[in-house]
Amino acid sequence: MRILNEKLKEAYDELDAFSYTISHDLKNPLSSIKSYSQILLRSFSLEPKAQHMVSRILTGAEKMQSMIQDVLSYSKAGQSQSEYKVVNMENLLNELKQELLVSHEDKDVEININSVEDIYGEETMVMQVFSNLIGNAVKYSKQANKPVVNINAIDHGNEIEYAIQDNGIGIDPSEQDKIFELFTRASDVDAFEGTGVGLSIVKKIMSKHQGKVWVDSQLNQGSTFFVRFKKPQVA
Ligand code: ADP
Repeated sequence: MRILNEKLKEAYDELDAFSYTISHDLKNPLSSIKSYSQILLRSFSLEPKAQHMVSRILTGAEKMQSMIQDVLSYSKAGQSQSEYKVVNMENLLNELKQELLVSHEDKDVEININSVEDIYGEETMVMQVFSNLIGNAVKYSKQANKPVVNINAIDHGNEIEYAIQDNGIGIDPSEQDKIFELFTRASDVDAFEGTGVGLSIVKKIMSKHQGKVWVDSQLNQGSTFFVRFKKPQVA
């Protein structure tokens, strides 16, 4: 069992390194495609049909660039070598709340941190988890009359569970498993910006923390995302 586990971990690490290298190496050729398309559009008087085609090349290259950036973030997620320690969740959540309120100040969003429990983890990764989950809660409820996000912590003895609840568009139960996969989005979210990487990063980090993430949601009735972390051990 131990040998198999080690082999599996090696295979995962190798896959991470592989996707990192590939996506990193794709950056330069892609930049050339982008730059030459921009030069063609800017400095040559192309006939309308050719102009349209070059614009399509540019849009495709830009989309690919952002996907490569996301693959890089995904393969880097969970690589932090910093120590695991007690994370002060009051500070972390308030910091995130302020950031999100500033970046969505156009909308009257309410973010309620109703209860807080410290957890045991690696701070940068924990920050990434909550930034993705609370960021999504705000993003996918922006069309509600009054977007409200509620954050609650529940003490389960050895573990701490966080629930992040929104009153947004919700997710059809038949699509709830696939949203945790890389580059996968629900079928009705074209109006919202995104590439479908955030939740795969959350899943990867939760697995590094020997924790878990899941969702409870109905279409048009909001969503609640749950994460469970180990509780700090009292000496
Ligand atoms: P992104 O938001 O960039 O598409 P994510 O990996 O964070 O990528 O989320 C994957 C998909 O899960 C989203 O495209 C959306 O369909 C669904 N989703 C995630 N969070 C929410 C939420 N709070 N409310 C409704 N749908 C959500």
